[in-house]
Amino acid sequence: MRAVVYDVPGQFAVRDVPTPRPGPGEVLVRMATAGMCGTDLHLHEGQFLANFPLTPGHETVGVVESLGPGATDGEGGLLTPGQQVVVNPNSSCRDCDYCSDDTPWLCEGFAGIGSSTPGGFAEFVLVPGSQLFDATGIDIDLAVFAEPSACIAHLMDRLGPLSGCSVAVIGGGPTGLLLAQFLVHSGARAVALADPNRFKLECAEAVANVATTVVDRDDVQGSFERMVAGSGRAFDVVVDATGNPRVIEALPLLARNGGRIVYYGVADEHARVTVSPFEIFRRELTIMGSFTEVDSFPDALGAFRAGAIRMDGVITHRYPLEEYAAALDALRADRSAHKIVIVP
Ligand SMILES: [Zn+2]
Ligand SMILES: [Zn+2]
Repeated sequence: MRAVVYDVPGQFAVRDVPTPRPGPGEVLVRMATAGMCGTDLHLHEGQFLANFPLTPGHETVGVVESLGPGATDGEGGLLTPGQQVVVNPNSSCRDCDYCSDDTPWLCEGFAGIGSSTPGGFAEFVLVPGSQLFDATGIDIDLAVFAEPSACIAHLMDRLGPLSGCSVAVIGGGPTGLLLAQFLVHSGARAVALADPNRFKLECAEAVANVATTVVDRDDVQGSFERMVAGSGRAFDVVVDATGNPRVIEALPLLARNGGRIVYYGVADEHARVTVSPFEIFRRELTIMGSFTEVDSFPDALGAFRAGAIRMDGVITHRYPLEEYAAALDALRADRSAHKIVIVP
C-alpha cells in the first residue's frame, strides 16, 4: 500500500510499504479521509511523542476492510466489512497508577496511532478493534472531526457544568469552531470567538450561535479589550485554541476575577510565557491544561448524531496522499485554508 513515511524528523516520502494484516482483536481499515491539524506540524519537527519511522494521521474515517479473530468495536459491537468507522487513536497502558485511578489520559505509557504507531496518511491503517467506533450514517465530512471533537468532549467533562457561564474561545480554526459548538451544547450562556481571519469567523457565524471579534495580530491586547467591551464584561472561562505564546500571555485580560483559563492549543514544546503570579493570586485565576482523551468518542459521536455540531464548508482543501508536501505547505502558510484533509 502507499503511505506517508517519515524516517527522521523533517524528512518524509510517499512510498510503498507492506499492507498490514489484522491479528486477534485487530481490524484493517481502508482509509476514506484523514484530517490534518497543527499536531502534524509538531510531529514533522519530531515533537509531540513522535516515534520514528512514522506514518502520521490521527483524525481518520474509513471503512472496515478485514477483521482479525474476535475483533469487536470500542463498545463491544460487531463489525462488518464495508461499515464506516472512526478511529480513536489514543490508548493507555491500563496498568499504571493513573489508569488504575480512572484517569487514563494522564497515563505515562500513553500511545497514539499516528504518533507512536502508524496512522491514517496511508491507504490502510491497522487498529485494535477496541479503538474503532461505528460512524454509519454520519456525513464523512463531519465524521472526520470525531477525534478533535472527542478531545473537546474530554475538556467539557473537565470543565463540568457550564450553565450561566460566558466563555471566550481564542482561535477560529476547526478546533475553535468545534469548541464553540461543544460549549453551547454543554450549556454555556454565551460564547465569543476571536480570530484574525474574517473568513473563519464568517464560517463560525454561519454554523454556530457565537459572537465574533476580529483580532489585530499587531495589537492582541487591544483586540481582547474590545472583546470584553463587546460582551459587556469579562469571561468566566477563557480557552486558547492557538498555542501562540503572545496570545496565551494576554489571556488574563479576558478573564473575570475567579475565572478559569484553559491552555488547549498546542504550543511549541520550547515556548515560554510570562505570567504575573501576583495577578493569579490576587484575582484567584485558575490556569489549567487539557490535552487529549481516551474514552470520549461515544460523547463526541453522540453530539454529532444529536445535530449539535455542524462543520459545513469547513473543509477547504483536499489532497491525495502523493501531494502530502503541498498539504503541509498549505497547513503552514495558506491563510485561505480552514480544514485540510488527505484523501488517500
Ligand atoms: Zn489533530
Ligand atoms: Zn497507564
